[in-house]
Amino acid sequence: MPLPSTTIQQWLDRTHAMFIGGEWLPARSGKTLEVFNPATAEVICQVPAGDADDIDRAVTSARTAFREWRHSRPSRREKLLLDLADALEERADEFAMLETLDNGKPLTFSRHMDVALAIDFLRYTAGWATKIEGRSMTPSMPYAPSDKQIVAYTRREPVGVVGAIIPWNFPLLMASWKIAPALAAGCSVVLKPAEDTPLTALLLAELVESVGFPAGTLNVVTGLGHEAGAALAAHPGINKVAFTGSTPVGKMIGKAAMENMTRTTLELGGKSPVMVLADADIEAAAAGAAQAIFFNQGQVCTAGSRIYVHEAAHDAFVAKLAEHAKGLTMAPGWEEGATLGPLVSAKQQQRVLDYIGYAREEGGQIATGGGAGRDTGFFVEPTVITGLAQNSRCVQEEIFGPVVVVQTFRDLDELVTLANDSPYGLAASLWSNDLSAIHRLIPEIDAGSVWVNGHNLLDPSMPFGGFKQSGIGREMGDSLIEHYTEQKSVVMLV
Ligand code: ADP
Repeated sequence: MPLPSTTIQQWLDRTHAMFIGGEWLPARSGKTLEVFNPATAEVICQVPAGDADDIDRAVTSARTAFREWRHSRPSRREKLLLDLADALEERADEFAMLETLDNGKPLTFSRHMDVALAIDFLRYTAGWATKIEGRSMTPSMPYAPSDKQIVAYTRREPVGVVGAIIPWNFPLLMASWKIAPALAAGCSVVLKPAEDTPLTALLLAELVESVGFPAGTLNVVTGLGHEAGAALAAHPGINKVAFTGSTPVGKMIGKAAMENMTRTTLELGGKSPVMVLADADIEAAAAGAAQAIFFNQGQVCTAGSRIYVHEAAHDAFVAKLAEHAKGLTMAPGWEEGATLGPLVSAKQQQRVLDYIGYAREEGGQIATGGGAGRDTGFFVEPTVITGLAQNSRCVQEEIFGPVVVVQTFRDLDELVTLANDSPYGLAASLWSNDLSAIHRLIPEIDAGSVWVNGHNLLDPSMPFGGFKQSGIGREMGDSLIEHYTEQKSVVMLV
């Protein structure tokens, strides 16, 4: 075990409770779930195993809170979100350590990516609270009495109670992505964190309480996906589900939501291509491709998990990519210099090792990596695979681990065909300075985000979401307001 600060150790040693209607409560069933440290496979604490009963209680308190919160002054909502960002910043080190202990990611990334980006996102989104606008219109309405004037406008109103279901790869950041726009728009929230990583959501709820959000505006129910998660998605008392996670679960949630016409945004899986064109700087492209797949142990929906490199550069590129993989320091996240942590769970580790096995069976060559690499903890070595066909499982299916497949292409037409030959369409990166090739490719690629000479270039101001089976709807930018409000048309004859 690392040496977490006394504060964090004391926090872990508490009896953890869920945050419902401004109170800290156990699950009604009294059941709990174990939380593991993925670097040691040790249990670090227990959290309540909330189920349908607890979800029902949380939705009821969110509905009650919504009645007043929806009419709260936008400037108050903005100020509370800014205060929440400040409170998070003050305790950034604690949050970072907790995230590392819970999820496994290297501490330096927890601190400078997850926590820092969550703070940035809260501040960005706070500003939207005061910038929600409608439009005034000039309808003709020939059937209206001619002695009347027509006044017409649209309003944006908070969509209502939001059920937020989030994954385990960026627990705090995903919680912020869901909570902040909902609260900014005047919605109340029931948040169900992933069972593997519930801790930072609970600590964040403490800050939400301490900065003074009214009771019931945020509720956090910890529990299993098929119990608490499924109950939330199907609850008739919510108006919107905001989900980030796998495509199969996203489809179940979408179907359950449709039963009640609950609004949905679904941010789902990906198999994002990294395309290295003939003119690319191979050194820069290999370094970028390594980050694109190995960041967060490859547990990123936008991970660059398929690389298409121009055939002339294949061998040189693979050699450099393998060098970058070998240069990573695989270690428990709190150790000095760690750049690759464990995967989140034993289940995820096994899943990823299984995929490496399928690659071997399908004729792939392992350029580097290929095993767990350490006896303790849920580690998988950074792995580069070559020689696989386009229809192989490792090219077609989302692995969600530090495993990348390198293939070749001859010309841009073939590249487009290969890149789009995937059920997913979340993101893609192009590595080139050939402007005409780049501009020809951008409109052809089926992806919600396309990056040039970089990967994972996300920002709160840029809409984010997927084409095809990567999801429905967009997060961030002005999409935040679109997806957390309903439009109302108002017409008056005066
Ligand atoms: P993974 O399979 O990698 O754990 P999931 O998509 O299953 O990813 O998990 C994302 C979130 O969805 C988690 O909070 C999980 O608890 C939740 N979840 C899983 N199954 C269901 C379900 N049937 N209904 C609602 N939520 C679910």
